[in-house]
Amino acid sequence: MTAIASVVLSARRLIVKIGSALIADGETGDIRGPWLETMIEDVVRFFARGQQVIIVTSGAVAIGSRHFKQVDSPLRNEERQAAAAIGQVRLMLAFEQSLKHHGYGLGQLLLTDEDLSNPHRALNVRSAVQKLLKVGAVPIVNENDPVATAWTRVGDNDRLAAGVAQLVQADILILLSNVDGLFTEDPHDNPLAHLITKVRCITPEIEAMAGHTTSRNSSGGMLTKLMAAKIAMEAGCDMIIAKGSNSYPLAAVENGGPSTWFVPFARDRTNRNMCANNLPEP
Ligand code: GLU
Repeated sequence: MTAIASVVLSARRLIVKIGSALIADGETGDIRGPWLETMIEDVVRFFARGQQVIIVTSGAVAIGSRHFKQVDSPLRNEERQAAAAIGQVRLMLAFEQSLKHHGYGLGQLLLTDEDLSNPHRALNVRSAVQKLLKVGAVPIVNENDPVATAWTRVGDNDRLAAGVAQLVQADILILLSNVDGLFTEDPHDNPLAHLITKVRCITPEIEAMAGHTTSRNSSGGMLTKLMAAKIAMEAGCDMIIAKGSNSYPLAAVENGGPSTWFVPFARDRTNRNMCANNLPEP
């Protein structure tokens, strides 16, 4: 068994974050249904082992944007918000359909930065997640894009997922992305760039490796993933970045597929940083 497999297997509570490029077809904005089915099959396998899974999914903007798209020009803010409102419904319907085949339901949580940083709101989020998990409904989180303002937006689901991981004391955060992980340099620019498989400390050298990668429909890149890793590691949560575009993306992580694994300083639950929200231990 790989070291990553044993860390995934021993996790009691996992967060799986899905990037827009995985859930939505880049050209048409259609949901990649067959891929989603395989991802849900992976998740159901975790349930069968007694593990809890919370999903953080992007894609609402990518799915809804076809209503507003002008060729190669970015959406205006109000168009992006409306696209998210349309896409979010389709996203949840697709998840509901997939989970239903396996006898699971879901609960949607749309959050902004305020919901994680205000102790009262954060406590409500945590209680709702716990109750959903108790009744076998999968908590599915996204940013509440139509209402978030410049002041209340997290802005990317990498950091949102890490904030949720910290709040619910997850053991592992898996960021499924369209890249294998963190490379020494951009592999498109330099064929000699190699994948960093394990990171124990985010040094300026590691930060320098994360170039600015942005895409039209998603807000994350390697820099936001490193910010997420810092939050997760400080909370005692392992974090993995892996390419999730193929079928059964979580099985691939367990089977030793390419990834970057961020190892926290300590996994001791008592060491987890709950100070940010001044929340009591659950
Ligand atoms: N919340 C955005 C969406 O659902 C995506 C944010 C991100 O890509 O990180 O489309």
